[in-house]
Amino acid sequence: MQPLKLYNSLSRKKEVFQPINEGHVGMYVCGPTVYNNVHLGNVRTFLTFDVLYRYLLHTGYKVRYVRNITDVGHLVGDGDEGEDKIGKIAKLEKLEPMEVAQRYTNDFHDVLRMFNFLNPSIEPSATGHIVEQIEAVQDLISKGLAYESNGSVYFDINRYNEQGNNYGKLSGRILEDLLNETRTLDGQAEKRNPLDFAIWKKAAPEHIMQWNSPWGKGFPGWHIECTCMSVKYLGNQFDIHGGGMDLKFPHHECEIAQGIGLTGEDPVRYWMHSNMLTVNGQKMSKSLGNSFLPGELITGNHPLLEQAYSPMTVRFFMLQSHYRSTLDFSNDALKAAQKGYRRILNGMKIARSLEYVPDDSVAIDEKKVNELTKAISSFYDALNDDLNTAVAVAQLFTLLKFINMVYMNQLPPAALGGQNFNDLVNSFLTFTQEILGLEEESLGNDETVIRGMLELYKEYKSAQQYDKVDEIRAYFKANQMVIKDMKHKIDWAWEE
Ligand code: AMP
Ligand code: ZN
Repeated sequence: MQPLKLYNSLSRKKEVFQPINEGHVGMYVCGPTVYNNVHLGNVRTFLTFDVLYRYLLHTGYKVRYVRNITDVGHLVGDGDEGEDKIGKIAKLEKLEPMEVAQRYTNDFHDVLRMFNFLNPSIEPSATGHIVEQIEAVQDLISKGLAYESNGSVYFDINRYNEQGNNYGKLSGRILEDLLNETRTLDGQAEKRNPLDFAIWKKAAPEHIMQWNSPWGKGFPGWHIECTCMSVKYLGNQFDIHGGGMDLKFPHHECEIAQGIGLTGEDPVRYWMHSNMLTVNGQKMSKSLGNSFLPGELITGNHPLLEQAYSPMTVRFFMLQSHYRSTLDFSNDALKAAQKGYRRILNGMKIARSLEYVPDDSVAIDEKKVNELTKAISSFYDALNDDLNTAVAVAQLFTLLKFINMVYMNQLPPAALGGQNFNDLVNSFLTFTQEILGLEEESLGNDETVIRGMLELYKEYKSAQQYDKVDEIRAYFKANQMVIKDMKHKIDWAWEE
């Protein structure tokens, strides 16, 4: 089997994953800024790291997964000027800022549960780490890498670069180009260099989220939050840092500069960035008005949606693409994903019901055994190749083909042998549920009612009461199910 390779945004190539401490992985993922509902684009990024987390756990690592909640310091426009995103909503709606943060943190958690995301090991909030952030700012000032100016504190990019560092190394931005882009922005007068970024901001009296500090009342910069929370829980240098592609610059670029400035060590071994969910080629974002909320998908209640889609359909849709490619939302793609997921769902039901039947008269089918073994190892190879879930899903369908062949009596279990048969069933269920996180979604039907209806179907059929038989078929159809009337047995399945 191939070793796990991950694409490192810093080196711009796939690298064999080697954790700092053998058997352990420290992973930090930037969490949401809790000032509005998470949309489907955000879900895509969190899904990438949910699958990575699941896969690392599956392969035996002890993982400390830290994903923060940004509840202060992220300003409208993502730069150093403007209102705090949460403070702005609090003012508009006459709420406590923490009420806003709590409301959208709750929403975020609901969405995570809806899509079957695993909980992180630690979920720190920025406001819970103000002390650490003030200390970090003081530390950077004492190291000559930050300066106070009019009650705010800025990171000194020139000093940082003079010490042999390279601000821009993650995003590949060139300082001169950046300077040209920033010159026209407001609020640069306090800075020695227009590229210097705020690590502490002076709060105007009307700014509602503010804390006492050695530089007067203020609040932390967005970038210093993630540095403090990651270093506190994962150490000066840790294995994996993730987030959406749009966070590479300035957020993650600044995290590198702060980390190196504070500890002398490059904070992150593997930087991973998930690409954007787009709508007609445009990034899905609340401000562009092209975003869907998960709730809207589930009800189908949105002008761009032709029907409702279940959470696992959406999860499956996203898994069919590689996390570094953009993924364009479309009704057609989601409808195809619904079919695909239903096939997997039926496969899970079947896999659980299959039993091994020893039969000495059946010879082992070496060709089939080879194909099966190859599909299982190819699934791992796909994930080891920079978490290629698209290829992994294709391998899952090969396993599904085997599950269906056994179910349809086209392949006797004994032709695989007991061990291979167990590998087939266990791998299919483990890959689907544990690694890809696709859970068995009930479409709102009660299994005992379904079984009862199926028994009635059999009785009416043998009594040749075909009008009743048709009624039962219609009942199944109305509930998105079909009756499978096969030679060797009668069963039901989800409509694909
Ligand atoms: P935010 O709450 O805006 O800080 O975003 C939370 C996470 O979602 C970040 O990692 C963003 O990079 C990511 N994100 C935002 N929009 C999209 C999108 N359209 N597709 C994928 N990820 C996104
Ligand atoms: Zn962050």
